[in-house]
Amino acid sequence: MSVAVVGGGWAGLAAAVTLADAGVIRAGGTVTLFEAAPTLGGRARAVSIPLAGRRVEVDNGQHLMLGAYRSCLEVITRVAGAESAVLQRHRMRLAGATGLSLAAAPLPAPLHLLGALARARGLSVGDRFAMLRMMARLTLARWRVPAGLTVAALLRRHRQPVRLVEALWEPLCVGALNTGLEHACAQAFCAVLRDSLGASARASDFLLPHRTLSDVLPRPAERWLRAHGVTVHLQSPVRSIAAQDDHWWIDAGGRSQAVRDVIVALPPYAAARVLTAGAGAVPPGTGAVPTGTGATPTATGAGATASSAARTAAIAAAAAGLGGFTYERIATVYVAWQAAHAPRLAPWWMLREDPAQHHYGQWIFDRGEGEGLRVASVVISARGRAADLDDAALGHATARQLVAQLGCRMPDDVRVIDEKRATFRCTPDRPRPAAAPLPGPGPRLLLAGDYLVDDYPATLESAVRSGISAARTWLDTRPWPDTRARRAPDGDAPAQVSQATDSA
Ligand SMILES: Cc1cc2nc3c(=O)[nH]c(=O)nc-3n(C[C@H](O)[C@H](O)[C@H](O)COP(=O)(O)OP(=O)(O)OC[C@H]3O[C@@H](n4cnc5c(N)ncnc54)[C@H](O)[C@@H]3O)c2cc1C
Repeated sequence: MSVAVVGGGWAGLAAAVTLADAGVIRAGGTVTLFEAAPTLGGRARAVSIPLAGRRVEVDNGQHLMLGAYRSCLEVITRVAGAESAVLQRHRMRLAGATGLSLAAAPLPAPLHLLGALARARGLSVGDRFAMLRMMARLTLARWRVPAGLTVAALLRRHRQPVRLVEALWEPLCVGALNTGLEHACAQAFCAVLRDSLGASARASDFLLPHRTLSDVLPRPAERWLRAHGVTVHLQSPVRSIAAQDDHWWIDAGGRSQAVRDVIVALPPYAAARVLTAGAGAVPPGTGAVPTGTGATPTATGAGATASSAARTAAIAAAAAGLGGFTYERIATVYVAWQAAHAPRLAPWWMLREDPAQHHYGQWIFDRGEGEGLRVASVVISARGRAADLDDAALGHATARQLVAQLGCRMPDDVRVIDEKRATFRCTPDRPRPAAAPLPGPGPRLLLAGDYLVDDYPATLESAVRSGISAARTWLDTRPWPDTRARRAPDGDAPAQVSQATDSA
């Protein structure tokens, strides 16, 4: 019983933790995680950047988590202990340079929203009524809207005033879906509203790392996985995954190995690449020329079984389906002031986007003070809309935006991290690939990643949820002994481990 997880982002980590936690290794199986980068975490990890003459550890991109991220919290608490050890929890507050101020009241839903609206600033009576009416109608419709609807069309249908759209709905849509109103998927937006403003007050809480995202999940997860017997291969890019007889051949250079089953936890473009390469690769032992030699043999040639030929065709088709995504950029602009003349900052604050002035920043987050520096991050979702500015110009324009909208001094240094494929564009017509593209009962290949949770945008929660789901699908369909049921009362070691029935 051997499973490989390819990709050590939050989806792959969630899959590996779920497998190990269910007792696969205690039952004699193996779980191997392959990650191309030197560290785990993928798009949601810490990086070290030069800032004002120091090296500062920040996040690859500023992230905001919600109290509604139940799957994330489940895995985080499993590997890192208490939520409060790694995350700060704040009551939802949407306030900023537009004059809007909307803070969740400490009441059960929907009273927390009513309370928030009653005490809101910067919204007219008409705005409040329009918002409440739309939320009530969406609740009654169980948050379902007609297929193909964009957020702009949804807001028009619900006759949302321009001011409310500009001050609230547009920043929420761009922030949550990384896609502009005119193109964004209304169903995904409704799912976000349902799980935040429409859910309990705790669900709408904002969660931020005490330090970095790596401290929230990737680092504790790596320690936990190694301690629980999972083999973690860093700097091990998988080049191809090929069907061979009754298993998969994972081509990862010196770390290559045969595994019975595989969970591919990569972004769609990367998954398509390794699966396409696998469909054209030759499994070892067939006597054919190995990949990378210029020859293009196929797994359907001599030595391939009928089952591996069918699997090869299926993964080639799955790879083709993954090619239909388009992507959107997110820039995170890190700014630093010498602590002595740093502005006082709220934990987060909404900025006013004004493209006419090259003000593209949407949110600013205080990252705290250390080594004499105060660091903040400014988020620019849907960065493609500022494509006329290169990173240096965008950084400078953002610094000027802060001076204009916060009344602060010019930052002493600015650094831009521009993620070119930060998320898929969350349009209504994006592809909806199947997470289990191969029918059983042969070797399984399951997909995981933030693009697989129907009707949800690319978020940490969708990544983790998909990872857990892939692992559970595997656990449900493989004949393996569930050692949880046999665990000793102290929860430590299983009282009895029976033999795994899977041969590979
Ligand atoms: C700037 C930015 C801001 C964001 N803000 C938010 C936010 O505020 N809230 C939120 O919920 N979400 C946010 N997101 C989205 C969130 O980060 C992603 O949805 C999530 O991290 C995706 O996780 P994943 O595991 O599906 O994919 P990834 O993180 O992309 O993980 C894939 C992993 O596979 C590895 N890999 C790639 N190719 C190979 C290969 N051939 N072999 C082995 N390994 C390979 C990669 O190195 C990576 O570690 C943001 C994303 C970005 C970029």
